[in-house]
Amino acid sequence: MALHIGDIFSSVEVAKDAINRFIVDSRESYMKETSNKRQYSVTCRTQSSGCKFSIRCGLQKDGNARVSKMSPHTCNPRTHYKFKQLSSLWYLLPHHRASISHNREISVAQIRANEKEQWANDINYMAAYRTREALRIELDGKEEDDFARMNDLGARIQDVDPQSFLVLESTNDARFSRFFFAPNALRLAVPHLRPFIALDACHCSSRYRQTLMIAVGIDGNNQVVPLCWAICQKEDCNNWRWFLRCLGSAHGGMRGPFATRKDLVIMSDREKGLDIAVQEMLPTATHSYCAQHIAANIQTK
Ligand SMILES: [Zn+2]
Repeated sequence: MALHIGDIFSSVEVAKDAINRFIVDSRESYMKETSNKRQYSVTCRTQSSGCKFSIRCGLQKDGNARVSKMSPHTCNPRTHYKFKQLSSLWYLLPHHRASISHNREISVAQIRANEKEQWANDINYMAAYRTREALRIELDGKEEDDFARMNDLGARIQDVDPQSFLVLESTNDARFSRFFFAPNALRLAVPHLRPFIALDACHCSSRYRQTLMIAVGIDGNNQVVPLCWAICQKEDCNNWRWFLRCLGSAHGGMRGPFATRKDLVIMSDREKGLDIAVQEMLPTATHSYCAQHIAANIQTK
């Protein structure tokens, strides 16, 4: 980016960012001289060398900020060696906002490679890691804040879908424990589905490594229909038991199709806790195992 005397910016704050970025993009360094709402100016870090470097901008009467002085460095270029602003967040964030917005799981090595290729800037692992984490928080918010908002989310869901079935559990010290949800539209669909439920769980790729449990059915057109899902801390017998109890309650309880149909088939992988939970909670159902999971297990063993 170029910068010239007379350039106009909407505020001193905007001009300050443009000036700093112009200097760092030119692989030079600076030292702040004045920084307030009316004025921003920088000088050379080695003023003792007699370097005349200076860039200045000030607020005009019309509220815009104008660059009023630009004198280049006259010092030895080694002054700029290892200037730490090259690894600072304010400088790096705009370079990587688009790529992290597109892919939250981008590797730190890839961020380092992009920075080197596009901006000829060799940053270390920590600088690239901090950049990725700061942009993830900027784009998605802090995950821990989301847990605190689970009650609000539950209330909002019940507002818009009052017939939905929702269970939200917290620990004694009011921390999020687990969450189960079956929208009303899917509850209404269940009596018309084939007598089949597939159960599975997967890890969420988030910082707190929660587990997503899901049950799906199949309709008359052989299309997969999700029935309900839950978020909990881990996949074990206790959580599967709780999930199947919620599933039963959401879909008619003891008089519902899952409790009364003798021809119900449950399909799952061979997760140990799930096996026991199905036997306990759906004793009349036939429990079968997914052939694809079994084949995958054989291949990995
Ligand atoms: Zn200088």
